[in-house]
Amino acid sequence: MARQEKLSPEAIGEMYNQLTDSCADAFGGNLHVGYWTDDYDEAPVAQATDHLTDLVAERLEVVPGERVLDVGSGTGRPAARIATARDVHVTGVTLSEYQVRLAESRPGAGQGQGHADFQLADAMWLPFDDASFDAAYAIESLVHMENPAAVLGEIARVLRPGGRFVVGEWYLLGPLADDDAADLEHFSRSFNVHFLPTVEEFYEEMDRAGLKIEIFHDIWPNISRSFQLVGDILPASAIQLGGEIGEQLAVCAEMYRRFGEIPQISYALFTAVRR
Ligand code: SAH
Repeated sequence: MARQEKLSPEAIGEMYNQLTDSCADAFGGNLHVGYWTDDYDEAPVAQATDHLTDLVAERLEVVPGERVLDVGSGTGRPAARIATARDVHVTGVTLSEYQVRLAESRPGAGQGQGHADFQLADAMWLPFDDASFDAAYAIESLVHMENPAAVLGEIARVLRPGGRFVVGEWYLLGPLADDDAADLEHFSRSFNVHFLPTVEEFYEEMDRAGLKIEIFHDIWPNISRSFQLVGDILPASAIQLGGEIGEQLAVCAEMYRRFGEIPQISYALFTAVRR
């Protein structure tokens, strides 16, 4: 499990305030990988990243009117999409004030039958009552959390028994070669990654929190195209941005590309049920 030193929630929030727009441009408005059905699927990146959101939405098994928590809500695009498509109330939490404002200004947030609202909150201390959500999801956010046991405990606390928790996340297939471990460490530092578990570790941590994984679905072949696409787009945004933040983004782009080449890295959708 890769872990790294502590950054304050404010410092992490600031990093997201700065990098959200460029990264979201590269990922078609989302901050997660794209999903392509097969080699013949020619969907552009925005459609492919929305496709991943739709796979998460399906697995939530919610009915209209239910309350859903988005842990690490990014630009708010996934929450708005799920709220509209499923006619549910999605509440997103993020460490970035900029992301809250961006998400709240999105059409689909705060109106209509299904709606999405957003709060600046640390997932390690969720400001919600016990059992107040029917379902929850976390797309590419858990790895950034400093204390996964605390976060999973909080998610279990705010979910009602029987509620689903769906995770889209990186995981490790097994031990890393030395060179790859060095690349991963670089990546983890740049992207503030604390928790990159093996499947076994994922099951253990979830189980300890009272979340029973029912479906584990590795989707690496469907998402791996993201690295090339994003690796092509990010350096151009970095040049456009310029300055310190441009440099930071250029480093991130290179790290991201190398991360995608580590053979022991994979990606899965986990569906758990709150006991
Ligand atoms: N789920 C979104 C965004 C992924 S980027 C998407 O799929 O598009 C990671 C997100 O996790 C960011 O919004 C970041 O603010 C959030 N995050 C990271 N650590 C967090 C924490 N401790 N509490 C709440 N949100 C956190």
